[in-house]
Amino acid sequence: DEQRLTELHDKLSQSKRVLVLTGAGVSAESGIPTFRGSTAGSWRGFTISELACPEAFQRSPSQVWELYHYRREKSLAAKPNLAHVAIAKFEQFCLKRGIDFMLATQNIDRLHQRAGSSRVIELHRSLFLVRCTACDSVTENYDSPICEALRGRGDPSPQADSTPIPEDQLPRCAGCSGLLRPYVVWFGEPLNEGELSSVQEFANMSDFVLVVGTSNAVYPAAMIAPDARRSGAQLAEFNLDASCSSSNDVSYFVAGPCGSTLPKALPRL
Ligand code: NAD
Ligand code: ZN
Repeated sequence: DEQRLTELHDKLSQSKRVLVLTGAGVSAESGIPTFRGSTAGSWRGFTISELACPEAFQRSPSQVWELYHYRREKSLAAKPNLAHVAIAKFEQFCLKRGIDFMLATQNIDRLHQRAGSSRVIELHRSLFLVRCTACDSVTENYDSPICEALRGRGDPSPQADSTPIPEDQLPRCAGCSGLLRPYVVWFGEPLNEGELSSVQEFANMSDFVLVVGTSNAVYPAAMIAPDARRSGAQLAEFNLDASCSSSNDVSYFVAGPCGSTLPKALPRL
């Protein structure tokens, strides 16, 4: 096992182009629950997937805003873990050695950037963007509170007060005062096409695609690694145990929490 890790480490340092694809599992050791697997979270009796869709927002913008307010606060309070750091250091290594590097994440928590990664494609955008449902303008909202009414609504327990917040007290657009929504990609919504195809192109020309902490169940991101495999890339997957493997076509399956395994597998300066 250690020998396989060393072998992977050596191959990575000799490669010409590497894509790292991450999912919720990379942030699990920062205390942020995943959607699937043994580390999955829930919200007041709902699975998070049930609320992460446009239909849920139509039905109850208050409920969805409370969930996203909670996730945003939780991400702000969390710290990048050793997995985020190993990926950021690997990027530095690649830069120095002339290895083409790209990080594509399905996470919306910005922990990669806070660990020092700079070439990050956020496939599902981020918890810190909002979009107006009336005029479509998009704004970045990193450190200011989302709105007064959401303060103190950050309790995920099923008993928490779930009297809906009146719509006029939910986050509103500064320009037209329309209702704002969290601007993450929800289930059933398209990804940015240009971004997706640049990741796909990069993946298909890579020698290695590292799949880290993702159940690889969410399309179209789930197609990136299998497609790259067919184009000749080798796959290395990092997940808790073999039962989580998303494909039997991986050259390296590294079992264990990625905060422990990635620092051993990824070269650094
Ligand atoms: P997922 O919840 O479907 O799967 C998480 C995977 O991570 C599981 O396979 C699990 O076994 C694995 N895992 C858990 N802890 C791990 C660890 N310490 N080391 C290695 N692997 C570990 O997540 P997904 O595949 O990213 O897809 C679900 C969607 O959830 C995405 O659209 C993403 O945007 C969203 N999401 C994001 C966050 C976040 O931003 N942190 C959190 C939850 C969900
Ligand atoms: Zn507006």
